[in-house]
Amino acid sequence: MTQDTNQKIVLASRPEGAPSEANFRLEHAEVPEPGDGEVLLQTVYLSLDPYMRGRMSAAKSYADPVEIGQVMVGSTVNRVLTSRHPDYAEGDVVLGNSGWQTYSVARGEGLRKLDPAQAPVSSALSVLGMTGLTAYVGLLNIGKPQAGETVVVSSAAGAVGSVVGQIAKLRGCRVVGVAGTQEKNAYLKTLGFDESLNYKADNFADELAAACPDGVDVYFENVGGGVFEAVLPLLNVGARVPVCGLIAHYNQTSLPGGPNQVPQLMSSVLTKRLLLQGFIVGDHFERLPDFTRDMSGWVKTGEVKYKEDIVEGLKNAPRAFIELLSGGNFGKLLVEVSAPPH
Ligand code: NDP
Repeated sequence: MTQDTNQKIVLASRPEGAPSEANFRLEHAEVPEPGDGEVLLQTVYLSLDPYMRGRMSAAKSYADPVEIGQVMVGSTVNRVLTSRHPDYAEGDVVLGNSGWQTYSVARGEGLRKLDPAQAPVSSALSVLGMTGLTAYVGLLNIGKPQAGETVVVSSAAGAVGSVVGQIAKLRGCRVVGVAGTQEKNAYLKTLGFDESLNYKADNFADELAAACPDGVDVYFENVGGGVFEAVLPLLNVGARVPVCGLIAHYNQTSLPGGPNQVPQLMSSVLTKRLLLQGFIVGDHFERLPDFTRDMSGWVKTGEVKYKEDIVEGLKNAPRAFIELLSGGNFGKLLVEVSAPPH
């Protein structure tokens, strides 16, 4: 047993627009006791993800909001400290959903054991976990890239985007990545992207057109906003647009001004026979066996590389999360809550 207290970060208030640290509160509580069929977990890594912005709002979405005063939700890698479940032993490392707290109790059924000898356990929250699966499902199930086609991916240096681009390269595509800093653009070239552009450049739309001389066959949408507007006129007949995320809009409180662009968008969808399909990774767990086989192989051979941006200490989670929403992360954002296993 531990003499420690449980540190938890709860939702203190709902943000209007961009979240601030005042929307979160650090609380201390007793470390919980596991009952029969339960385990006591210590959080090792906490995954910070853009979807958490949606959970901070009361607005109806595909998942319930976090209530005020509740611990912020999140996927975690945990160490089993005490087990009252026959399948788990003290010292096991598991994938769980403990949220933003240092200790938690879980029923064994919701956990998955990890083998630290197979891969760094943090990768179960990044390339071999939810973000890797998102890239795999969105690109292959919906984007269906064919050799020789042009694939554009936004937020390309991020957790999902960097994997999308590398899978598209493995499928023989020309890949154009879009990211927000020179450093991120340079990184994409090291991953084998054919072109890498900064959407903050004044002439971004012209640069994108020049980088896609044969138009765009697949646009993997992670952001929306100005990047989508620049891609739309370049989409070829029959282009596919997996709509994965719209991070440019998550902090918006009202619609942007200007003319109504829906007629122009729908006209493109019709005349170019476009496929725009939204998806939520949680609806695609049937792809887990294929994904695990392919992605573990690609990571082992080095055909898919990944980057993790690890912030130390639970108390730093709110700041890191706020920065994630405006590009402060470089790679999959994780919080190291306690020392990882060796
Ligand atoms: P990332 O690692 O890509 O981090 C988010 C990045 O978004 C930032 O680093 C920033 O990069 C970029 N960004 C922020 N604001 C803007 C903007 N206004 N315009 C363009 N880029 C912006 O996060 P993830 O890989 O975890 O997530 C990527 C997207 O995928 C998100 O939209 C997320 O919601 C979505 N997602 C969807 C899932 C699903 O099931 N549909 C599952 C997982 C993720 P930069 O410096 O380049 O601006």
